Amino acid sequence: MKNTILKRTSANEPLETMSTAPEKINLLDLDRGAMEAWFVDLGEKVFHARQVLKWIHKHQVTDFDAMTDISKSLRAKLKDVACVKIPGIVFDQASDDGTRKWLMELQCGNRIETVFIPEGDRGTLCVSSQVGCALDCTFCSTARQGFNRNLSVSEIIGQVWVAKREISPERCLTNIVMMGMGEPLANLENVISAMGIMMDDLAYELSKRRVTLSTAGIVPALDRLKALSDVSLAVSLHAPNDELRDQLVPLNRKYPIRELLAACRRYAADDRRKVTFEYVMLDGVNDSDQHARQLAKLLQGVPAKVNLIPFNPFPQTRFKRSSMQRIEAFQEILMRAGLITIIRRTRGDDIDAACGQLVGRVADRSRRHGRPPERGLKGFGIAVVKANGVRKQSLQGSE
Ligand code: SF4
Repeated sequence: MKNTILKRTSANEPLETMSTAPEKINLLDLDRGAMEAWFVDLGEKVFHARQVLKWIHKHQVTDFDAMTDISKSLRAKLKDVACVKIPGIVFDQASDDGTRKWLMELQCGNRIETVFIPEGDRGTLCVSSQVGCALDCTFCSTARQGFNRNLSVSEIIGQVWVAKREISPERCLTNIVMMGMGEPLANLENVISAMGIMMDDLAYELSKRRVTLSTAGIVPALDRLKALSDVSLAVSLHAPNDELRDQLVPLNRKYPIRELLAACRRYAADDRRKVTFEYVMLDGVNDSDQHARQLAKLLQGVPAKVNLIPFNPFPQTRFKRSSMQRIEAFQEILMRAGLITIIRRTRGDDIDAACGQLVGRVADRSRRHGRPPERGLKGFGIAVVKANGVRKQSLQGSE
């Protein structure tokens, strides 16, 4: 069976809304704490916040009139001041292997991608945190687009809301990885709030072990994440030494491997959780036996497991995927050194939904809309600059 476009809605119809009044607050932006505070400000009892949160996320109800355990007068009040806006689907594609990819359009015209990967009893949703990405990893398709802005809480959790609605009832959403477009730690505040909703028992009820944040390694933000949340951590390592990682993940020039691994040890210290290190296998670049031995030595003493990711090519990339024979030889060296090492199955590559292939659409790479992303990035020593019309990252003090 060829992959199929299941649905197309008009690009001029960007949002499914129950209300479009711009001054109304989108309740999808509020986690439990924020929702409770908002209801108190409204002069209402706190327990109504919990009712509404449950209606929106657990029962997928966006129409206040359908929230039947809330009084009619409160429903009327809510309709006056609030709304529930869900991102609209532009394309819905299914891969031969069951992977689904949704292209969603945001109010500002930007588009983001979200991917659902079913596997046995497991269903993993890969969620985006930014429109584009400023970090410019050389092997990543998202990076090619440049960067526009951070996603709001509603745009992050809205991807989960839409996926839950679209997934067939026999499939379950069991895991979420913040591994789509963007660097989640550069949008920390909104990502933490959205992950709180993912784990809330009034919403998606996922345990902290089933929510994973993946980062290229913004070290100070990693320490902040540890203070504010205890989700599972994945780190995009991709090279066993600074010289090579400087080329593949330019952020390494600001936060070199030694500092990154120290932050990983701090993150994992309390509950001895393992950090997952992602390592994309690039033919002739980072996949030799020597690289494997270097990596094994580097991760000695770090509570680590390693995911080897066969590279997923995209147009105009100079990289090629390592052969499966090479990947298995690399794995063998790491396993012999005592590292749990998994070769990640490539999923959804026929619909460009595989790791590193997400692109969406950055409608405007030279302006931003909404919250300024630079504030978050600059705080961690990264500025966003414009070069040739494309927004790129610059590592302060190193460039
Ligand atoms: S790999 Fe991740 S951090 Fe690097 S450019 Fe791509 S989306 Fe950004």
